[in-house]
Amino acid sequence: MSTGEVIWGKEGWPGPEFSENAKRAVEDSQLRRNVRKATGTIRERRAGLVAETPDWQELRHAGAAIKDDVLHHLDDYLEQFERNATARGAHVHWARDAREATQIVTSLVQATGHKEVIKVKSMATQEIGLVKALESQGIVAHETDLAEMIIQLSNDRPSHIVVPALHRNRAEIRQIFREHMPDAPKDLTDDPLALAEAARLHLRRLFLKTPVAVSGANFAIAETGGLLVAESEGNGRMCLTLPETLITVVGIEKLIPTFRDLEVFLQLLPRSSTGERMNPYNSVWTGVTENDGPQQAHIVILDNGRTNALKDQIGRQALRCIRCAACLNVCPVYERTGGHAYGATYPGPIGAILTPLLVGVENAPQLPFASSLCGACYEVCPVEIDIPTVLVKLRHDAVKAERHKAQDATFAAAASAMSGRRRWTAALKLAPLLRFLKHGAPPPLSGWTRTRDLPDPPKQSFREWWTKR
Ligand code: SF4
Repeated sequence: MSTGEVIWGKEGWPGPEFSENAKRAVEDSQLRRNVRKATGTIRERRAGLVAETPDWQELRHAGAAIKDDVLHHLDDYLEQFERNATARGAHVHWARDAREATQIVTSLVQATGHKEVIKVKSMATQEIGLVKALESQGIVAHETDLAEMIIQLSNDRPSHIVVPALHRNRAEIRQIFREHMPDAPKDLTDDPLALAEAARLHLRRLFLKTPVAVSGANFAIAETGGLLVAESEGNGRMCLTLPETLITVVGIEKLIPTFRDLEVFLQLLPRSSTGERMNPYNSVWTGVTENDGPQQAHIVILDNGRTNALKDQIGRQALRCIRCAACLNVCPVYERTGGHAYGATYPGPIGAILTPLLVGVENAPQLPFASSLCGACYEVCPVEIDIPTVLVKLRHDAVKAERHKAQDATFAAAASAMSGRRRWTAALKLAPLLRFLKHGAPPPLSGWTRTRDLPDPPKQSFREWWTKR
């Protein structure tokens, strides 16, 4: 599915129409095949690894408890992190929103005098629209994660948190490389090894010539002031060690109290995200070390709606999220629509709750309804986020925020009809008229029938049947 068909929101935030996007997505059989195959493979691998981990449920409880502790004492942990990171030579910056964060990163890059940066895959930088913001100031940011690179070369958007190009198959990737990667071999085939080699050679040149890198972080350790990036390809390790300047954008919820807490998360994350026992590369760095790695380390700590989410007593558990995408891989809605339909940075079940919590449910009223409430997301979530409960709460908020006169009038009429026997009997006589609405009601009722079939009214009411007998 090309992104041109999707209704996107501003800077990656939700467009207004999940249902419109979803309707188009489910008609794209190639997209559905690609998504089903990729999510099915990861799902099976994850299930096998969870089955062989006897203390999986205890690990989940521990992950949730550590994150809840952070959320309850966020102010203390943030200050502790800043103190320790600064003591080890890093520069800490605070950003209230996307605009502040992109301005900080842009001025840090400008201060280096360079016009190109290499990037580690990061949801936070996507959330703030960093690549576009840098581009508008004449700075080129090269994505170095293979899937992100495919997305960037084809001017596409990520459709999955962990596997951003999961909606693309290898024939499409070959085509993208041939059209948009100037140093791709002329005889490039769609053999995965050949595609990986072409990408590797292309990226290696970038790693060696670019002295500024931008990253996110999976975890920020309050006790030490250190950061951790977990990844599979080694591109992250290159970006985190080769350049002279490293700028890291990290959400306030990424904190964990101690280094030892990694013991829990480094078991939960790889099993849940890529279906591996451990991530091939876990890079941890703390400030700067003389003559070893980047000599300038900047950390931009990002709010961008997170304190709003924290205010919501039921919704705040979404801030436990470690972005493993296990909830996407089991979601029957995501499997049919893919990630673009959500029209926002975070797709799938976590996106359906996190986006409205970050931007306000009035700005993303459709997303809490992008779910069948089957509960599969809760069962697999490694930090026990009760997504269905948050969805129901946000639906309530969305309905409250969206209440309009037609809806109020409809419910007032229904309440009046149901409040007396005679009125109810009279109302039932109008039931056959519902048949005319079967193939779509006029506005404003069309909002309801657009995604639902109106059931046929019964031929007679219970009272009529009873009286006849
Ligand atoms: S909500 Fe849970 S399952 Fe979904 S991405 Fe976040 S941590 Fe993973």
